[in-house]
Amino acid sequence: MNNKAIPIFLITLAYFLLPFVNILFALTAIACMALPFIILRITRKKTWCRGLCPRADFFTKLRPANIGFRQPKWFNLKKIAIIMLYYFGINIFFITMSTIMVGLGRINPIDRIRLLIMFQLPWELPQLFTIAAIPAPLLHLSYRFYSLMLTSTLLGSILAVLFKPKTWCAVCPINSISEGMLSSMKRKEIITNE
Ligand code: SF4
Repeated sequence: MNNKAIPIFLITLAYFLLPFVNILFALTAIACMALPFIILRITRKKTWCRGLCPRADFFTKLRPANIGFRQPKWFNLKKIAIIMLYYFGINIFFITMSTIMVGLGRINPIDRIRLLIMFQLPWELPQLFTIAAIPAPLLHLSYRFYSLMLTSTLLGSILAVLFKPKTWCAVCPINSISEGMLSSMKRKEIITNE
């Protein structure tokens, strides 16, 4: 697929801008996370990563700002990919559990952006269109997904500027999970063909 013809990086920009209208738009992150795996199951290839990913397209647009440092030896992409996979898993666990707790009325929703799970930004996200009766769990879930997506996009952007534009792809949890799914699908194929 030709990314130059379709400016899919705009989807990434839209994702971060639309929650300024209303934070509920941040819930589209769920579709962004599910789509790569749904497409992989259908095509049995990492089709998403090979031209459909808006975030990867966004990182390539940072090329003019690229410094082009060499990756230092201690910067082991395989180890960082594992760390990012754990970070992603822990984050999804926290998001799920805290949303359940909000739903049960045990804790208040966190309607603030937090980077790396715990570093809260000191400003509120402006809301051009407020919905008075957003259920608390949905409000909480929206801010948590926005925080997750913002953190990973910022990390990926820093890597894109420092090293190569798509350095993030080597440590991206979606990539690691996709690799795991592909290996498992291939193993099952081998077993059924035996
Ligand atoms: S590895 Fe991650 S960022 Fe890179 S193309 Fe795939 S899903 Fe997108």
